[in-house]
Amino acid sequence: MPALTQFGDQMSHLTGVRAIMKDIIETLRLGQSFINLSAGNPVILPEVEQLWRDCTTALLASEEYGTVVCRYGSSQGYEPFIAAVRDDFNQRYGLSLSDRNFLITPGSQSLYFLAANAFGGYSSTGQLKRIVLPLSPDYTGYGGISLIPEALTAYRPQLDLDPTAHRFKYRPDFSQLEITPDTGFVLFSRPCNPTGNVLTDEEVTRIESLAAAQNVPVLVDSAYAPPYPALNYTEMSPHFGPNILHCISLSKAGLPGERIGIAIGDEAMIQVLEAFQTNLCIHSSRYGQAIAARAIRSGALAEISEQVIRPHYQRKFAVLEATLDQQMPGSVPWYLHRGEGAIFAWLWLQELPITDWAFYQALKQCGVIIVPGSPFFPGLKDDWPHMRQCFRISLTASEADIVTALERLAQLVDRVYAGQ
Ligand code: PLP
Repeated sequence: MPALTQFGDQMSHLTGVRAIMKDIIETLRLGQSFINLSAGNPVILPEVEQLWRDCTTALLASEEYGTVVCRYGSSQGYEPFIAAVRDDFNQRYGLSLSDRNFLITPGSQSLYFLAANAFGGYSSTGQLKRIVLPLSPDYTGYGGISLIPEALTAYRPQLDLDPTAHRFKYRPDFSQLEITPDTGFVLFSRPCNPTGNVLTDEEVTRIESLAAAQNVPVLVDSAYAPPYPALNYTEMSPHFGPNILHCISLSKAGLPGERIGIAIGDEAMIQVLEAFQTNLCIHSSRYGQAIAARAIRSGALAEISEQVIRPHYQRKFAVLEATLDQQMPGSVPWYLHRGEGAIFAWLWLQELPITDWAFYQALKQCGVIIVPGSPFFPGLKDDWPHMRQCFRISLTASEADIVTALERLAQLVDRVYAGQ
């Protein structure tokens, strides 16, 4: 094994939830039967799979096939795909985007990696340009995107509590948030993985104007947003503007294996990221883009997103909510985050007598796997007890499994708070 560089050492470690996933995979290998509420992989819905099968059949039958898979293409992305998304967005949102406002990347994770290292880290004058996550918790994958980990800075939120209903919602804490000349860029997911939070239009506008005043880009991670996969359960509209990079992923619209990320925004920013991508991997795969172009042009992807994908997870969330309301001990200060989008629920057990990790281990003994919350606070430097009191529960299991798992979770909560 050769000696690793600083970057090599850093990038060879798994960050955040991926480290826990290793423990989960090893647990599942033991063969005992578990109800697994940890999955981040979207459910394969028959209608969605059929859509991609049909688009593949159409591609195979067309003359386009050879040029899609047998040729290199532009680093920016496959032209007919960019044209399809451009026309859809222009028409849907009344924009006048040109092809030059788009970059296609191999998944959106890689897009954040490119941005993190182009706009964050040390500037040519040696100044540390911070990557600001305005509301922590947020997507665990942000923990591994920067080659300069000290660049990542996250801010604690304010908590809107409804103790009677056992519900809460995170809000950006504008009294703490600092977007200053040393900010490289701002990043948040909307809807948010893991919490299901959707920042309000007013909150987003406020973040954007703080950033615009410093000429700082804002990347809005829209992996769950409309129009595809449309995993929002509350009204929300995308934001566009000179300092905004609207970032999409087709992973939750049924193509996680094809790795398609899309950045939409200012031409100059797009050009920087495109050159970075050329150096890294030349361009992303064209096959997925070619089938997705068909599904977007025909309107089928937006329609299936709204009529199949969204209701599927929204139903699961309703089952989860009803089960918790019924089963959780009334005396325990438990709070479920408002389910405004994404494919997860986020549970906060206030004053939990043990750590999230110990609770996760104890719940495994009851045959249920959920994800401890502490890895979802990348970039947060404070020691905040709240970080060890939360859990991410995936909505990808069947309704029956969700009910059984939460009954067991409620029984464990009862025992743990009783000190047993
Ligand atoms: N952003 C968020 C909020 C996510 O939840 C995920 C994946 O789960 C990603 C980005 C990365 O997705 P992909 O690289 O598949 O586009």
